[in-house]
Amino acid sequence: MLSKLLALIFPPKCVLCKKILTGEETDFCHHCRQNAPETRKSNLRFSFLAGWTAVWYYKDDARKSLLRYKFSGRRNYAPAYGRRLAMHLQKEGYTGFDILTFVPIAPIRRYFRGYDQVELLSDAVGRELEMPSVRTLRKIRNTPPQSGIRDVSRRRANVLGAYRECDPENIRGKRILLLDDVITTGATASECARVLLTAGAKEVFCATMAVASHNTKNVGE
Ligand SMILES: [Zn+2]
Repeated sequence: MLSKLLALIFPPKCVLCKKILTGEETDFCHHCRQNAPETRKSNLRFSFLAGWTAVWYYKDDARKSLLRYKFSGRRNYAPAYGRRLAMHLQKEGYTGFDILTFVPIAPIRRYFRGYDQVELLSDAVGRELEMPSVRTLRKIRNTPPQSGIRDVSRRRANVLGAYRECDPENIRGKRILLLDDVITTGATASECARVLLTAGAKEVFCATMAVASHNTKNVGE
């Protein structure tokens, strides 16, 4: 009853374009399901990652949606993202991982934001894949945002030593799926993978909702 009332007052909207959804639509409107900027296969490699995959290019409504999720309190997008990313992982054959984990934000940022958007995403993916999301890393330095730095080597330097493993016993010999919201130059994901591998992980794969569209030199393009 309450949920029906809430749906009347706050009708569910498309997570990408914000259009009010019709009865048959969930998470995304029909138009966005057809037209979202889905990624194509890429030859791009990032240091220390055994592989990576992303659902969308970081542009248009996908970019706007992820910015609302991260900066405008739209934490309620997490279940929709989680369903979409879990579906993508299954479609791409990203299965058989020992641990599902995530790139953490700094505690101070989490305090002011009220949530860690990647942890929420990881919890949502975990619910879909029926595997728990496990914290394996903590951010030990609050670094300036990567988005404010253009140069790749500066971005690498910015995150070098910024993460530490939580529980090496949990990591050793494991095949790890590391989630983040967006992969841009790969500096953050690579640094996290380096820390996990140093702590004894067998392999680290990264999956994100979006990849920066400057990384769009794709096979067949
Ligand atoms: Zn839409």
